[in-house]
Amino acid sequence: MPYVVTEPCIGKKDRACCEVCPADAFYNNPDKSLNEKVGRPAPKDDDYGMLFINPNECLHCGACQPECPVEAIYEDSSVPVEWSDYIQLAEKIANSYSKEDLEKHHATGK
Ligand code: SF4
Repeated sequence: MPYVVTEPCIGKKDRACCEVCPADAFYNNPDKSLNEKVGRPAPKDDDYGMLFINPNECLHCGACQPECPVEAIYEDSSVPVEWSDYIQLAEKIANSYSKEDLEKHHATGK
């Protein structure tokens, strides 16, 4: 039962969540098409896409949820229905990343 980052992260990517995660389970999905889909620019130079939580690493502790300034993080069973695609997206991207990709895209704090 992992936590999931959803649409409000796109164009924000605050990263306060990364600072509190005991599992270092946050990663970057730098997909520019996500910005185009929701009509929000990158928050700074080339910081496209969104963060995601690796469902294979999340400890389900909930520490990240209150840190997000745009309320993008939900327990997977509580994701608003309009954002439910982000559950599958996190699984798909996490499972498509090689060990090297995971190292390269590991998201750290601000
Ligand atoms: S629920 Fe806990 S372990 Fe999972 S991503 Fe959030 S802070 Fe990390």
